[in-house]
Amino acid sequence: MSFSGFSLSKKMVSALKSLGYEEPSKVQSVVIPKALRGVSLLAQSETGSGKTHSYLIPIIEKTDLNLNRVQAIIVAPTRELARQTYDFARQFQRFYQNLRVRLYSSEADVTQNEEGRNIPPQIIIGTPGRLKDLLVDKHIMTLQNVRTVVLDEADMLLDMGFFSDIEALFGIIEDPQIMVFSATLRQNLRDELLKFVRSDFEFENDKTETASTVKHHMIDVKHNGSVNALVTFLRLRRPYLCIVFASTVKMVDEIHKGLKENGIDAIYFSGSLDDRSRKKAIREIRANKYSVIVASDLLSRGIDIPDVTDVISIDLPSDLDFYHHRAGRTGRFGKEGDSWVFYNADSVNAAKRIMEEGVKFDFYVLRKDELKVDTVGLLPKTKLSKKKELPEEERKEISIAKAQARPKHIEPMYKKKKQFAIEKVKRKYRKKAIQKSIRKELEKEYKAKAKSVNRKYEKQ
Ligand code: AMP
Repeated sequence: MSFSGFSLSKKMVSALKSLGYEEPSKVQSVVIPKALRGVSLLAQSETGSGKTHSYLIPIIEKTDLNLNRVQAIIVAPTRELARQTYDFARQFQRFYQNLRVRLYSSEADVTQNEEGRNIPPQIIIGTPGRLKDLLVDKHIMTLQNVRTVVLDEADMLLDMGFFSDIEALFGIIEDPQIMVFSATLRQNLRDELLKFVRSDFEFENDKTETASTVKHHMIDVKHNGSVNALVTFLRLRRPYLCIVFASTVKMVDEIHKGLKENGIDAIYFSGSLDDRSRKKAIREIRANKYSVIVASDLLSRGIDIPDVTDVISIDLPSDLDFYHHRAGRTGRFGKEGDSWVFYNADSVNAAKRIMEEGVKFDFYVLRKDELKVDTVGLLPKTKLSKKKELPEEERKEISIAKAQARPKHIEPMYKKKKQFAIEKVKRKYRKKAIQKSIRKELEKEYKAKAKSVNRKYEKQ
């Protein structure tokens, strides 16, 4: 199917072609026709599925370019995501000269943000706090013509406590079309959304959380230390572009420092960077200046870094949703990718939890000079010899014997005496079992004899 199959203008189809988008992705095929009809929807979309364009295309298509009023608002949880969407939207300005898009986030300073008082943009993209400040509290422009509101990465918006700002925004926009995109569809998210969505809300559930082109692996790194294990792994695997995730900023620091000490030049990204350094880091990452990125989960949500081949989780996040976000940094747009999880005897429980979630892993052991396949790994091990259960009666008698052998005061030889009492019961039952089997054998013999005697009589 091509974009010309939708009721899109020729101008849009040729713009998409010039941008290199020939065929719609799955989420685009589902969302674009509905969005064009003005339907409100919630789409669970794989990261890297093309979801940004699934709302940008219909929004731009429906924008009245002769009207200098805000017509669509896109809310993103982080300034990096807002910037990414803004950059994607601005690519269309080459084809739509009068298209005015503005970014409202803490990234741009307030004077720049407020400069739009004179000619308002048609599309606003921003983070919730800044949008509420400018549009609700300061009311810098009218929102009377807003027809569409997009909540991108809605689960993250909820997790970061932004829903009160969003509710305030909905308070001053009259009955817009709402498009919600989220990597996970949790019940609390649906409950929260139902506070401001209309009844014609459609749920699109594309269940897989990470692209199916991503392979998941667990590596037993033993107790060699995360840095050593990582250095060995990178030496053996030689990834083209990998992101190494750790759950705490302390750990991200440690890994980054450790790699440097081992002569591996990696770029660092975590919430502890100031605005300017964060922007610089994103720019350098996108320019492919490094092949190893060490990051906190801040980088695991939504940011589009093309060509990531490997994702490494030094540890597992306590919220397993984050694992899907991490793994989703690779395997984008149909490309293949590998997600590796380091574990050892101390962290098997977290590893088992993610396996219980249904993520299929294969297993490796990391040795000094090889990454070896581990055929069993953490898979439930089947017991080869099952200990025979004792019959109920015998078990009861053993516990009585144990109780009777228990002295009131600690006595010498107590344990031996107890063992002797247990053995006595066991001997009794063994004897019984032998007698039973002898009786059975005898019975068989009698029956066989009786049969042959009967046959003899029948013949006579
Ligand atoms: P997203 O899921 O929005 O983060 O998009 C992931 C990447 O897919 C971005 O780099 C887009 O440029 C790219 N993309 C979006 N739609 C298409 C399409 N129809 N064909 C090819 N690439 C696309």
